[in-house]
Amino acid sequence: MAAPRILSGIKPTGRPHLGNYFGMMRPGIEWQERGEAFYFIADYHALTTVHDPAALREYTRSVALDFLACGLDPKKAVLFRQSDVPEVTELAWLLTCLTPMPMLENCHAYKDHVAKGKVPSHGLFAYPVLMAADILLYNSNVVPVGRDQKQHVEVTRDLAEKANRVFGEVFTVPEASIVAEVATVVGLDGQKMSKSYNNTIGLFEEEKVLRKKVMSIVTDSAPVEAPKDPANSAIVALYRLCAEPDAVALMEDQFRAGGIGYGDFKKRLFEALWDRFAPFRAKRAELSADPATLDAILEDGARRARAVALPTMDRVRKAFGLK
Ligand code: AMP
Repeated sequence: MAAPRILSGIKPTGRPHLGNYFGMMRPGIEWQERGEAFYFIADYHALTTVHDPAALREYTRSVALDFLACGLDPKKAVLFRQSDVPEVTELAWLLTCLTPMPMLENCHAYKDHVAKGKVPSHGLFAYPVLMAADILLYNSNVVPVGRDQKQHVEVTRDLAEKANRVFGEVFTVPEASIVAEVATVVGLDGQKMSKSYNNTIGLFEEEKVLRKKVMSIVTDSAPVEAPKDPANSAIVALYRLCAEPDAVALMEDQFRAGGIGYGDFKKRLFEALWDRFAPFRAKRAELSADPATLDAILEDGARRARAVALPTMDRVRKAFGLK
């Protein structure tokens, strides 16, 4: 069997956080060894929320740096800016014409927005269709994502199957790949970690900021001597992501035994996080001192991405009757 084509993206709406890393970046970095990996910085998607051009440019570069610092190898994986292949917006329009409104009305990102009493833009409403175009343009087989994106990959599958029924076998039907243990990384308040909930821990926080954030993790008011439940603790959940299994087992036992306060456990979590990302911090400092290399990587990524996208668009235009 041919090597799978893997594709995933990350929005440059701020600095990547632990949810992005464990949900998507780390699995993506593992996948680069097993197939042809395409990872993009989703600047078109970010425009649903970021309306400051300088910030968008800065976040786009900094997300690329973070991904490279964490181990993305640009010789193996193709790293590119979504907007360097603008054909994706054309494909999004073609798919939009096949998309039933109720399918999008049912998508949770849109529903959450409306439930909060906010007025969604058309971009936010149609975002799953642009995501389908991202995936289908590169003939992707596997899409490594966090659980929050599962529904959107289902939309992609539905649209690809529909297009194939109507226009012949034009698209590859992809599958989501979700790592069960890190499908949803919790934030400081115990909800899903998300930039929009303001509860994130960034991958490359300053030491002081990281310490302060970890110390602010919400807990119940159990006193030091009381036994505590490791199953419902954001401290333990985050510690599991960055500490060795023995250290995690010890923390869980000490939670159950009582006698240690949350503050001590938080200090241990801080140390583990700080150490876990130390090699990546060093690599990031090295990369950010050399902007020309980042430019060259993104240019090369755009070239390799276009080499796949343009033939796909030719095929799709013909199939849809545009040529
Ligand atoms: P976004 O920042 O929305 O572009 O997300 C980029 C990737 O990170 C997507 O694959 C998400 O599923 C993943 N992700 C974001 N937040 C979390 C989280 N709290 N837990 C697990 N994965 C996440």
